[in-house]
Amino acid sequence: MVHEYKLFIGGELRDSSTGEVFDDINPASLENLATLQVAGIEDVDRAVEAAEIGFRIWSEIPAPRRAEVLLRAARILQERKEELAVLMTKEMGKILPETRGDVQEAIDITFYAAGEGRRMLGETTTSELKEKLCMTLLRPIGVVGMITPWNFPIAIPSWKIMPALVTGNAIVFKPASDTPLLAIKLVEILMEAGLPPGVLNIVLGPGGTVGKAIVQHPRIKAISFTGSLETGKWIMEEGAKTMKRVSLELGGKNPVIIMDDADIELALEGVLWGAFGTTGQRCTATSRLILHEKIKNEFINRLLVKTKALRIGNGLLPETDIGPVINKAQLEKIERYVRTGKEEGATLLLGGNTTDPGLPGYFFEPTIFTDVRPDMRIAQEEIFGPVLSVITVSSLEEAIEVANNTKYGLSSAIYTGNIINAFKAIEKIEAGITYVNAPTIGAEVHLPFGGVKGTGNGFREAGTEAIKEFTEVKAVYIDYSGKLQKAQIDSE
Ligand code: NAP
Repeated sequence: MVHEYKLFIGGELRDSSTGEVFDDINPASLENLATLQVAGIEDVDRAVEAAEIGFRIWSEIPAPRRAEVLLRAARILQERKEELAVLMTKEMGKILPETRGDVQEAIDITFYAAGEGRRMLGETTTSELKEKLCMTLLRPIGVVGMITPWNFPIAIPSWKIMPALVTGNAIVFKPASDTPLLAIKLVEILMEAGLPPGVLNIVLGPGGTVGKAIVQHPRIKAISFTGSLETGKWIMEEGAKTMKRVSLELGGKNPVIIMDDADIELALEGVLWGAFGTTGQRCTATSRLILHEKIKNEFINRLLVKTKALRIGNGLLPETDIGPVINKAQLEKIERYVRTGKEEGATLLLGGNTTDPGLPGYFFEPTIFTDVRPDMRIAQEEIFGPVLSVITVSSLEEAIEVANNTKYGLSSAIYTGNIINAFKAIEKIEAGITYVNAPTIGAEVHLPFGGVKGTGNGFREAGTEAIKEFTEVKAVYIDYSGKLQKAQIDSE
């Protein structure tokens, strides 16, 4: 018998109003890990009510005191890192070193956000009038809705929840239906750390109903969403109807440029990790390899040898390099893109099939397409699987043009030994993140994370930018002259 999880609203486990449940399937073994209650619109309403009460209490607690809850949560996360990582590998498939990294990212952002409890800096500035002081204060927004994807089941929720909490907001949180357990564990840890009831509420179930109810709820003031471009666009349109602040972190089609002056061995390791780490299911995964023609043959031959050596299987085993993809729909989507690539005339150099490592789950071979033209769908659209498209170019200028030829702009990388190439790439690549001599993945929590063009709507997560995502700025004027002073008039 698997455990049935309820919703968590107002500090209590609550039965959902729908009476429906859904399963949490291990993508490697197809074992059912848990059953979870599906929230209804009424439950979202209750969660918002609870969050409003929670907000009143939480927002009045001084930020350094709120930060203490986060510090305790960070320590609990540290103590439970291994347990959470193992559960995550079971729940979403990526290999244990990577799920440990996911938990570590949650620990890092929690400590970082706790530190912000004693900063939350505004500005003090001069006034155009005498005996008058001007400053800005950061205020919480209120009840914030959070909707997250499955590929970083604890890191991405933490990137949102921790900065939102330290700045005094209350939360209604809907995690991805493929990874509810890690989300529940995170909420439990925060409660154990001393978060007051109602400040963080979790409602589970499909994006199309539960997520939609959050997005459309008139008393939710802001939505923080990470997921696909299609869903993000809908949320932005819908959010406008109730004047919500909507922050979006969406997809990527991330390029790595390898110049003919690059350290080839270093670049090979980076491409392998960037393209096939997390089975290609990272928003920052390397999905386009832009190769200088002079090194094309050597690079591809060596990449082929290394890729063939990758071992596919159960992410819990130390010998595994690549785990399963998340679910059947994702597996089928990857298969469709492989067919599209072939139809478009690209050369399937390696992989392209589902595979059976002795487990019934959703396994797909690492796949490399060469002779890819920049306009092909496999070079334009996010596949979100272990599929790499190789495009050949003859100059840095052409490489940058190809890199920019997509609707996305999240991460990017260049491998080069030439500082001029590196700086030109930093300046010209349209992306929120550019790595030099490192792969497209590997963000650190004290730097802003996010992208340009179709990757988002101008917000960034992590770093000090995260504080902006979850605060309103208030301008304050204090006049101690004892008389009426008129700005723009008396200052002349
Ligand atoms: P998705 O289908 O957009 O789902 C993301 C979340 O939105 C899930 O919780 C989903 O619920 C929910 N959802 C779906 N439809 C909704 C709707 N109409 N209203 C409200 N919520 C809705 O994305 P995904 O395929 O799971 O995730 C992969 C995508 O996320 C990729 O595009 C990837 O690049 C992107 N991503 C971006 C970043 C970044 O920081 N830029 C990081 C990681 C991933 P269910 O789970 O119930 O469907």
